[in-house]
Amino acid sequence: MFDNDLHKPPFKRIEKGQRLSRLDDPRDSKIERLEEELWLTGIQLILTRPEPVVKLLRYGQAKNWSELNEWRLDVIDKTMDIAREEIQSRPKDGEQRIKCPLCGQAPGSKPMGFLLGGLRTHLDDNTGSSDCFVLARAIKNIIYQNKHRWSV
Ligand SMILES: [Zn+2]
Repeated sequence: MFDNDLHKPPFKRIEKGQRLSRLDDPRDSKIERLEEELWLTGIQLILTRPEPVVKLLRYGQAKNWSELNEWRLDVIDKTMDIAREEIQSRPKDGEQRIKCPLCGQAPGSKPMGFLLGGLRTHLDDNTGSSDCFVLARAIKNIIYQNKHRWSV
């Protein structure tokens, strides 16, 4: 079921002493405003990243959970390609570690970055979640954008 009005806060006037129904709970509109702010902050976060990352994350169109997962795996593969190409462009005995191309982070104890295997785990820990806050936010943004169309 898709209803454009579902995301709008209820402005129905509540009389003194009137019991609030679940639909009239003012906390719902507050939560929805906070969700929208997080979504906007996520977009702004992605836009602060280098252009190839913005391009990679911008086309996150998914019509259902299965397509979202396909998109996620594609982003991970392409991020690994970016990392591999960067390492291969270095001198032969050059640094083999790389910071995450999406979020720019390195493991706490290794300021030069991840080895490729560690980067893969950073992006996808095989449970469908990610330590990469940029990828995690991009996924949550797609879920938010579709929350009234998918059964969440
Ligand atoms: Zn990352």
